[in-house]
Amino acid sequence: MARSNPHTVGLDEVRRSDTGLVGGKNASLGEMIRALGSKGVHVPPGFATTADAYRSYLSFNGLDDRISAELEALATARTTLQHAGETIRALILGGDWPAKTAEEILANYRRLGQSAGDENCPVAVRSSATAEDLPEASFAGQQETYLNITGGQALLVACKKCYASLFTDLAISYRQIHGFDHMQVALSVGVQQMVRADTGGAGVMFSIDTESGFPDAVLINAAWGLGENVVQGAVDPDEFQVFKPFLETPGLTPILEKRLGDKAVKMILDRDGSTRNVPTSTAERAQFVLSDDEILTLARYAKVIEDHYGQPMDMEWARDGVTGRIYIVQARPETVQSRLSPGALRSYSVKDPGPALLTGLSVGSAAVAGRVCMIENAADIDQFVDGSILVTGTTDPDWMPIMKRAAAIVTDHGGRTSHAAIISRELGLPAIVGCGNATQILHDQQDVTVSCAGGEDGVVTEGVSQVSVSEETLEDLPRPHTQVMLNLANPGAALRWWRLPVDGVGLARMEFVISNTVRVHPMALARFDRVTDPETRAQIEQLTEGYSPKSAYFVDRLAHGLSRIAAFCYPKPVVIRMSDFKTNEYADLLGGRDFEPAEENPMIGFRGASRYYSEKYRDGFALECQAIARLRGQMGFKNVIVMIPFCRTPEEADRVLEVMAEHGLKRGQDGLKAYVMGEIPSNVLRAAEFAERFDGFSIGSNDLTQLTLGIDRDSEALAELFREDDPAVLWMIETVIREAHKAGATVGFCGQAPSNNPAYARRLVGFGIDSISVTPDSFVQVLRNAVEAEAD
Ligand code: PEP
Ligand code: MG
Repeated sequence: MARSNPHTVGLDEVRRSDTGLVGGKNASLGEMIRALGSKGVHVPPGFATTADAYRSYLSFNGLDDRISAELEALATARTTLQHAGETIRALILGGDWPAKTAEEILANYRRLGQSAGDENCPVAVRSSATAEDLPEASFAGQQETYLNITGGQALLVACKKCYASLFTDLAISYRQIHGFDHMQVALSVGVQQMVRADTGGAGVMFSIDTESGFPDAVLINAAWGLGENVVQGAVDPDEFQVFKPFLETPGLTPILEKRLGDKAVKMILDRDGSTRNVPTSTAERAQFVLSDDEILTLARYAKVIEDHYGQPMDMEWARDGVTGRIYIVQARPETVQSRLSPGALRSYSVKDPGPALLTGLSVGSAAVAGRVCMIENAADIDQFVDGSILVTGTTDPDWMPIMKRAAAIVTDHGGRTSHAAIISRELGLPAIVGCGNATQILHDQQDVTVSCAGGEDGVVTEGVSQVSVSEETLEDLPRPHTQVMLNLANPGAALRWWRLPVDGVGLARMEFVISNTVRVHPMALARFDRVTDPETRAQIEQLTEGYSPKSAYFVDRLAHGLSRIAAFCYPKPVVIRMSDFKTNEYADLLGGRDFEPAEENPMIGFRGASRYYSEKYRDGFALECQAIARLRGQMGFKNVIVMIPFCRTPEEADRVLEVMAEHGLKRGQDGLKAYVMGEIPSNVLRAAEFAERFDGFSIGSNDLTQLTLGIDRDSEALAELFREDDPAVLWMIETVIREAHKAGATVGFCGQAPSNNPAYARRLVGFGIDSISVTPDSFVQVLRNAVEAEAD
């Protein structure tokens, strides 16, 4: 590198290895400008002062000894942190610039102004400590940033302030705790053309899923105004997730999730360059900060940056409100998931949880029970009780010392990339962020259980419940010939199973995804005119705000919910079963009462295939089909297979397949496979005829046992007689496998039996089953049983 100007250097001249020269942050910005500009990643242009400049500033003003003396006094307790910090900062601010450094800074600034076409070009002035970002992310954010600085003289003052910020009280104590030599750390100032995010938007992005470490999803958080609110967790940002493998395929929109955040405030700039939070408008709150195109652009940036660095990355981005252009303003390696051992999978569960008190976004997947310690103000952090559950509005780096000693953290505000979330993850603590009103609902010394075990929604429940942990070793797992798949229902938790060596998903029950992420009866959206209750109408209006027609809400939410189940094991097959609620359960969905008959025996009533072609549900089924068509088409998940439950006769099958084709799901077209559940004795007795109409069967032992033995599957009185290993049931299973195979169809098994008793898998292997689908907790045991049975 040409270094004719040793006190400043153009960002386009530095590379990532130059951390000793310009600090981690500036080195990384330079690396991206130099190497990734040609790949379309925008980084604001600028320059940096070097570590040499900092050192020569200290020696020019004779500060080394005076600072060292002050720190020595602190180390030997002859002065206080506050006094030492103040003294050192005043010394630095009172110094003069060596002529050479000042000239270089001003010359670079002029050059930046020339290329921007504005000699007083506004710049962002950021500190980059030469040891920053190493080794822990929490070291970042300690030094100051000055925004919208205009003019050379103001710039020189801002640079001095950055130098002084190397000695904030927090930074001093942090270095002391972690054993960094104060005088070995230098400070480089990054000066970049200002991105006017104050009138645009900004946020944080990770190139992997932060909670599960799933490597194929980008996570983006976004809020209006400057990005600081997202970083600090002062707002609840929008959250987006994008599936990376499809980013380069033209025409696809592989957005897995779009979650609207409240974004109550936005950080704007005052004329003097200071920042201020103002309330957002109702329209801003109701609107996503990013368009789909922008979400995809950012995700592409994330992929390019991750590919370049060869590791998962943590990035900050900003959109200029004037030009609309999106920039990356920081990139550093992700430090939590990438350090975890990939060979083990830990899962937590809470036994008999008490009533739910509140919910928020879960961080991690752990659970813990304990006592609340409510701290509303940073000034009160010395009142924290070690080992308790910290409940607060939001946190920032000042809170680090007590966060380390907490059992769990619960906050009112913030998204998954906020300070509280990042630090909790780093510390391995469960945290629930963005709860809205935790500080009002919970009270000091209350006994609660905090659980992130259930997926993306974390929940605080009343009382101390028993928490259990199980750990599975995933290394050296045997692989049977029989495929072993997962039964999944919760889209929010789907990504966490990516490390399991599954052969796909054998059963994704759509009805659970509907109750989880849609909550409204599809007919109430397709025929909103028939919804009678005013309160229900108002609730539906609220949920579907921004969607026209209302039915688009159902298709959109359902497709997004299912997409994470389709994504985590892509390109392995994922069998999505069309909705199979019973009438009483459909009636419980919002607006459901106006469309569902009251039945004496819902279990053998208006359910499954019979609904799909009926006038009473046809319009609702059309929406289910549209969601699947979108998942396979626009989103790109061609690994999705459709399954029809409770199909009583082959004639019903014909009618359903016809309706599906009308709504874009023609069996055989675009590789679409259709399966049928084998769960009614008629499916077994007429297996050959069903096999003509479907590509495969999946045996549902829950209904098949119920209907073979004539036992209500929910009956407690008859529970002992409800046996999936009853000879009559086994005959049914063996027969359907044999007959279906004879007719060329595959046969899987997705009933609960092997999940409850992994040894049951041996019988299925003996019958020649093609695949067995089980709940995640029993996956490894079933795998082992299948291998052993195959060896017999
Ligand atoms: C079954 O019947 O075994 C099955 C898997 O379906 P469900 O339990 O959803 O009825
Ligand atoms: Mg069933």
